[in-house]
Amino acid sequence: MQKVRSSGTNLEIQVRKYLHANGLRFRIAPQGLIGRPDVVLPRFRSVVFVNGCFWHGHADCKASKLPSSNAQFWRQKITRNIARDDYVHSELTQQGWRVNVIWGCELAASGESLSKLLASILRFADPLQKKC
Ligand SMILES: [Zn+2]
Repeated sequence: MQKVRSSGTNLEIQVRKYLHANGLRFRIAPQGLIGRPDVVLPRFRSVVFVNGCFWHGHADCKASKLPSSNAQFWRQKITRNIARDDYVHSELTQQGWRVNVIWGCELAASGESLSKLLASILRFADPLQKKC
């Protein structure tokens, strides 16, 4: 499997800064969790993947358009990445994690995607874990 993300891209940093500024505390790409999510919020049992549109094959997105040269190579590569993402997400879901995906183009378009992400994480705050 190819590693398609490196830690600490601008998009990831943008998301982490936003969540941190809103009082969320999290871990970054911990070992031992499949797919190494970009942000892990154990308290909310939530993980966040910050996906570059090209590498993760964002459907119907201009930024995921494949290069015209070597089209077949790219198509296969991106198709594998999409399959891997699907697998990782379903594994995490089965382990009880709530999987959030935020796309690069959404981040670029407006700050609204970040507030939606935050709302989605907070919506699932587990009351059982709020005792202290
Ligand atoms: Zn996109």
